[in-house]
Amino acid sequence: MRIAILSRNPDLYSTRRLKEAAMEKGHEVKIIDVLKCYMNINIQNPSIHVKGAELPAFDVVIPRIGASVTTYGTAVLRQFEMMGVYPLNESVAITRSRDKLRSLQLLSRKGIGLPVTGYANKPSDIPDLIDMVGGPPLVVKLLEGTQGIGVVLAETRKAAESVIEAFMGLKADIMVQEYIGESGGADIRCFVIGDKVIAAMQRQAAPGEFRSNLHRGGTASLVRLSPAERATAVRAAKTMGLNVAGVDILRSNHGPLVMEVNSSPGLEGIETATGKDVAGAIISFIEKNARQSRTKTRGR
Ligand code: ADP
Ligand code: GLU
Repeated sequence: MRIAILSRNPDLYSTRRLKEAAMEKGHEVKIIDVLKCYMNINIQNPSIHVKGAELPAFDVVIPRIGASVTTYGTAVLRQFEMMGVYPLNESVAITRSRDKLRSLQLLSRKGIGLPVTGYANKPSDIPDLIDMVGGPPLVVKLLEGTQGIGVVLAETRKAAESVIEAFMGLKADIMVQEYIGESGGADIRCFVIGDKVIAAMQRQAAPGEFRSNLHRGGTASLVRLSPAERATAVRAAKTMGLNVAGVDILRSNHGPLVMEVNSSPGLEGIETATGKDVAGAIISFIEKNARQSRTKTRGR
């Protein structure tokens, strides 16, 4: 197959591994920087161009679209979809998963466990918002944040009020969430491909830190998932309409709670922690599922 990888940087671990895995299985691979693409949107012959030349035909497109280029990146991906190229994850599912609040709303509608979450934009609603999520300690999250930046633990009511007020004053979109203390600064990254969790790792926050992101000094280790955790991760990915997803779960007293569903989950951490060939599994999934013009919007 001819496979396009949408990635801004061919040297990134995930991009390199996907390219290697595809080539090992005999596919042709081209890495394309979405920001270098421009498009001709029309009925007869939608096309994508780079530096004056039209891109050749592809069978499959693997989107690895960074959060900072979501809008342009998903527009380019949509153009591939219009041309009948099979997307590993489709544009609408990526857009959906990039909006944390929209994601939680869709997940809750399917009965998937989540930390109790509140959302408001007026300072006068802050006291009620704090009560709604069960009072302090609570977590305040910037909707736009990634890698743990913009996630704040407020241990007292005063702290919660001032953090929320400060964010609102900056016109930042935030949500307020029940703090799951019993998870002990650990979360679980489930790497879902199709209807299976093919690898999972536990991430433990550094001492004195509650955020377990590897970028925040967290450490990864192997973990055994319960059947409920596996089922939750797979359902979460399905609800978002993602074929490949990194589902982040907190272990609470009342079962697994989904924090986030990531549409471009990194491969380095998970392959290193588990020793599994995740890139190879992604290419195998593509071999089984890629058909021309098979873009299907899932999740409602
Ligand atoms: P990001 O998308 O920036 O990684 P997350 O929502 O995943 O933001 O939060 C970052 C980290 O903070 C999580 O990996 C987890 O360790 C911790 N965390 C987030 N929300 C909660 C919560 N409600 N209760 C306990 N810990 C949390
Ligand atoms: N189901 C609709 C869609 O596919 C809207 C739901 C949503 O993702 O917010 O876009």
